[in-house]
Amino acid sequence: MTQDYDFRYRIIRAGDAETSGGDRPAEMIKKLWRSLLDVAIPCAGGEEIKIDGFKLLNNRDVLHGIFDVVSRSGTSRAADRGEEVIPRREGSPCFQNIHSTALYEPRIHLIKQLLETVLALVDLEKDGSTVDIDGFRLKNPGHWTVPSACDPAEIFEYAGSRCNCDCVFCYLKGEPSLPSLDFPRRTAAEEMEEIRTRLKYFSPQMKRSLFPGPGSTCEVLAHPHILEVLAELRLKTGSPFRLITNGASLAPEMISALAGLAPVYLDVSLNSASPLRRQRLMRDRKPEVAINALPLLKSARIPYSVVIVPWPLESEEEMLADLEGTVAYAAEHGAHLVQVSLPGYSRYFSRGGIFERDSLWRSLVSRVRELRKKYRYPIVVMPGIFEEFVSRPVKNAPEVIGVIKNSPAHFAGVRPGDIIGSIGGLVVRNRPQARDILSIFQQSDTKGLNMAVRREDRDLTLAVDLEQWTYPYSQVTDTHLGVVFMGTGLRVGYLERLKELIADHRAKEVLFLSSALVKPVFEQLLRQSFLFAGGQVSVQVAVPENRFFGGNIFMGDLLLVEDFIDCINEYVQKRKRKPDLVVIPSSPFNLSGWGRDLSGRCHLDIERTVGIPVEVLPCQTIYD
Ligand code: SF4
Repeated sequence: MTQDYDFRYRIIRAGDAETSGGDRPAEMIKKLWRSLLDVAIPCAGGEEIKIDGFKLLNNRDVLHGIFDVVSRSGTSRAADRGEEVIPRREGSPCFQNIHSTALYEPRIHLIKQLLETVLALVDLEKDGSTVDIDGFRLKNPGHWTVPSACDPAEIFEYAGSRCNCDCVFCYLKGEPSLPSLDFPRRTAAEEMEEIRTRLKYFSPQMKRSLFPGPGSTCEVLAHPHILEVLAELRLKTGSPFRLITNGASLAPEMISALAGLAPVYLDVSLNSASPLRRQRLMRDRKPEVAINALPLLKSARIPYSVVIVPWPLESEEEMLADLEGTVAYAAEHGAHLVQVSLPGYSRYFSRGGIFERDSLWRSLVSRVRELRKKYRYPIVVMPGIFEEFVSRPVKNAPEVIGVIKNSPAHFAGVRPGDIIGSIGGLVVRNRPQARDILSIFQQSDTKGLNMAVRREDRDLTLAVDLEQWTYPYSQVTDTHLGVVFMGTGLRVGYLERLKELIADHRAKEVLFLSSALVKPVFEQLLRQSFLFAGGQVSVQVAVPENRFFGGNIFMGDLLLVEDFIDCINEYVQKRKRKPDLVVIPSSPFNLSGWGRDLSGRCHLDIERTVGIPVEVLPCQTIYD
């Protein structure tokens, strides 16, 4: 039996200036409270309560505020937030990145804070001599398993630590924006040790696995041991492997190895079917490998999508012409669908403007709509909600924008433009409903169903045979019987939860924070809903700016705690009064169940800073 990988974390000892003066023991208790309140909610009589201070038993005249140093940019000590990912010393074992660990398993971050807080007051001893320590390790990883859906990506994503391309648009370029997104440099053998330990505790039967981390975001197929990893993983789970790849490793041998690990689905970031453009865009030394992979994937019956990040290298016209060439190539070689990922960049990537986002995105959407018709091929824009924003006065409709070739929907005659009215006798009123019902039928034993659609001015009933399908559709890797939608849409159920939150607070004036793209959909739902009729409650919608990431980023799911704080403060300043309640969507904090933003900061800091009750409305991530 191989030994478990050592999960090791660095601790930073406070300097002398930090450990002298003031009431240090009281300060220690304050820090301990603050750290604990970022991972646990106190309760009394079974009800959640909020606390912001404490008294010491020996002096109940003095109230100590727990959050009296909360700032716009964080509650934790400057040394903690500003701590770099320390370069590793030659030959020394590797520390994990505590910032990314804090996103997914903040209890490990809590251990670090507890140790640092205590070590600011005491020295540890052994045999009469002080012992200097600079880190800690988990005694037994088995203590740290958590409930999990056991998606295979939880394992193989740890292999994505290197890349064999160098894309001009890579978001990893530029100054590092967040320490939580910096990954320690390790050898492939060290990475394998961690992956094997994760595999050991990965249990689809028990629905448990080792505490998650962000994995690594580069090219999984570039890892020298990836086929070993996938083969070992296949012994544990029959679930599909959905791999995102730049295609540079998709040589014939790799494709036949992947075919042996079915079910596998690949998202191939081809970006261009022109070798010259792909080479310039991705600095891929052998662009023909990825380009030639498409027909080979089709022969191997591996379903795949083609991902295109359109980037205006020379001009917008050249980019749009290449987009068409790449879509035509993908359609010719049986890609399942094409995903056009609208390009953006943060201020860390470029201080100056590279392109005007709004006009470029609009040109892309309009070209994609032409290409869908010309090639009769499913092409999705990512994020789909932008297409809806610019092209549909009525939002959230159960409209079909594409149909996967050879799917049950394709054979039933479903067409782009159809508005779904019912599925299997169940009435459909909006897109999230249509997606949910189709997913349920897809996973059921149902053999056939009727789908009612409105096509232009006609109502049609189409008979869908769930057993009639062939490549590139697949029952195990597809989700909606072959119907393609414009993103997830917004669930009407969110309004019911919003109403409950407002009632719990007896609020009359509510500030709801949304994103520029979601706001019109949300406002439409509000207007249509009987829940908010009568006007007893005023719900104002404001849109925080993505100031942290800057550049031309404007996605709600990329907002940080400090962006929300700025927006609320500015709203209050402008109106000269505070709302009774602020509601924020949970999606920017959906990375784990611990309510952290991308920097690892807990959403509870918003209320602590602005001094207004803040509630989180559970909702899904919208990037689809
Ligand atoms: S393939 Fe992905 S990780 Fe690699 S350089 Fe391109 S964008 Fe970056």
